Amino acid sequence: MIKTDTLIIGAGPVGLFCVHQLGIIGLKCEVVDNLDKIGGQCIELYPDKPIYDIPAVPECTGKDLTDKLIKQIKPFKTNFHLNERVEEIKKIEKKWIVKTNKGTEFEVSSIIIAGGVGAFEPRKFPIKELQKYEEKQIFYSIKDKKIFEEKTVTIFGGGDSALDWAIELSNKSRVILVHRRDEFRGMQASIDKVNNLNKEGKIEILTKYQLASVKGNEKIDKIVIKHDDNSFKEIKTDHILGFFGLIMQLGPIAEWGLNLDKKNIPVNTENFETNKEGIFAIGDICTYPGKLKLILSGFHEGALAARGCFKYARPDEKLRFEFTTTSKVAQERLGIKK
Ligand SMILES: Cc1cc2nc3c(=O)[nH]c(=O)nc-3n(C[C@H](O)[C@H](O)[C@H](O)COP(=O)(O)OP(=O)(O)OC[C@H]3O[C@@H](n4cnc5c(N)ncnc54)[C@H](O)[C@@H]3O)c2cc1C
Repeated sequence: MIKTDTLIIGAGPVGLFCVHQLGIIGLKCEVVDNLDKIGGQCIELYPDKPIYDIPAVPECTGKDLTDKLIKQIKPFKTNFHLNERVEEIKKIEKKWIVKTNKGTEFEVSSIIIAGGVGAFEPRKFPIKELQKYEEKQIFYSIKDKKIFEEKTVTIFGGGDSALDWAIELSNKSRVILVHRRDEFRGMQASIDKVNNLNKEGKIEILTKYQLASVKGNEKIDKIVIKHDDNSFKEIKTDHILGFFGLIMQLGPIAEWGLNLDKKNIPVNTENFETNKEGIFAIGDICTYPGKLKLILSGFHEGALAARGCFKYARPDEKLRFEFTTTSKVAQERLGIKK
């Protein structure tokens, strides 16, 4: 059981800045995110796209912003629990007990939900029986490309992830790329590269096909794909990769007894607390009259929610308002030496 002051659910830009706001007032926190990396939508959906409305930063990309936020919170040495989804919360006396799908447990005095549009999940093959092969022969993301070396890999999808992995894996694996349309929709340079590798015999391309079924018991031996003209084709393959994009699901957050308004969590605008004492919601996931789903609004919400957490973590202390420019304590916490 990890005991700390606050648990932040979501390592998007808003959750990250909130670590800073908790840190300068002396509160410790841990952060959980379902994704395998820090940065939320900025990293998952638009790492290279420019953003023009972060105060005092005329232009930066989603990745630049994430890198800067990570740098800003470095002094607090915060633990991030990535690839973990918060599943359950319950209150025992004055503490919240929080559990993730990997079994990690936290005991905290407050929770800040910075869950954006919900947990990102890969879109999967619509065939239920395939679940038992996941992470063995069927993958929706790649953590260790070595397992595919010298094997036959069938990749499904027509976007950038499918194209990029087809190119990358074709170096050391036999790659078959299957797409349900006859046109790919990734970057032109990647499409050209895949077509060239196809001409060189390094990638086999099968279009207008979709996965129909798999053959084998303990292990998948062959897959059956179906053409638009209703004909079938069998392929012997070792691994199957599906890259169909991400879906966002509010998931377990919807089951915690919080008031919900169209998949958003209503909060007060004094400290962004929800209908449950000690649970705050900030960033894209919260709603209130006039809410703007912008990063800068989330930063403000995080500053006030952090102060809202203080009374739960230090009920006998009073929080004094101070500027970081003049507060010696805040500067010490930020590791600033003069
Ligand atoms: C293409 C695009 C362009 C944009 N451009 C701009 C722009 O120019 N300016 C601007 O201000 N905004 C822009 N936005 C919006 C901006 O990205 C969002 O407002 C911002 O990302 C919200 O931050 P957040 O931290 O609240 O949530 P998110 O960035 O969505 O992060 C939430 C995180 O919470 C995690 N999570 C959710 N539920 C759980 C759970 N149960 N357990 C564990 N983890 C969980 C998710 O995996 C995710 O990583 C843009 C958005 C898009 C899609």
